[in-house]
Amino acid sequence: MDVAPDLASLSGRDIVVIGGGVGGLSTACYLADAGADVTLLERNEQLGGRASVMERDGFRFDMGPSWYLMPDVFERFFGHFDRDASDYYELNRLDPHYRIQWKDGDSMDLAPDIETNVERFEAYEPGAGDALRSYLDESEYTYDVGMEHFVYEDRPRLRDYLDPDVGKQARGLALLGSMQDHVEEYFDHPKLQQVMQYTLVFLGGRRTTRRRCTT
Ligand SMILES: Cc1cc2nc3c(=O)[nH]c(=O)nc-3n(C[C@H](O)[C@H](O)[C@H](O)COP(=O)(O)OP(=O)(O)OC[C@H]3O[C@@H](n4cnc5c(N)ncnc54)[C@H](O)[C@@H]3O)c2cc1C
Repeated sequence: MDVAPDLASLSGRDIVVIGGGVGGLSTACYLADAGADVTLLERNEQLGGRASVMERDGFRFDMGPSWYLMPDVFERFFGHFDRDASDYYELNRLDPHYRIQWKDGDSMDLAPDIETNVERFEAYEPGAGDALRSYLDESEYTYDVGMEHFVYEDRPRLRDYLDPDVGKQARGLALLGSMQDHVEEYFDHPKLQQVMQYTLVFLGGRRTTRRRCTT
């Protein structure tokens, strides 16, 4: 299924997109590609929204994102226009990805390869390396189901979520509970639990899950 299957019906229409962040910019691109006459309005002097850059006194600051999350979404976007993200920017994999520093002076570098991280987790808790693999397997499954059936699939009305197909796709996914509950199912060591919960900064709070995925 395409990102916006009804776009063809907008061909020839005049459409105003308000906001020149990545959301507005990509929406404007899809609409223009579908034949709409698009005007994009941005209140700031520069485009980019939260993903913008501030330059002052010879210094350059990233105002928002530092992590290239969900690269598949970017590839899908560029792929729609028969382009590739690499036509527009160069990605360099950082090693380490990032460092977590605890108050007690301990730190952990998260590496770009799984095996290094497995070893690092194992050093904190026997079995934590395999637990990390299981955790990532479940996360991958959840991500794939979520993207295919709940993000890319258009469900404009509340009642679309009452579709039996939604229940079928959601089966096996943990939908209630906190992130703390979730990571505790995999890791006992408090530092490993903190490492795994770091990604919550992108979600802003509690996440769903209680049961381990069995699919
Ligand atoms: C500090 C920080 C760190 C982040 N880190 C990451 C990260 O590492 N990885 C990641 O993937 N994401 C990260 N994000 C999130 C990511 O930046 C946003 O999800 C994304 O940029 C949002 O894009 P958007 O187009 O939806 O909204 P915005 O970027 O908010 O764009 C909205 C645009 O609309 C404009 N606008 C609003 N009202 C009007 C109006 N009335 N008229 C005209 N224009 C208007 C605004 O000026 C703005 O340009 C981070 C965000 C922040 C703030």
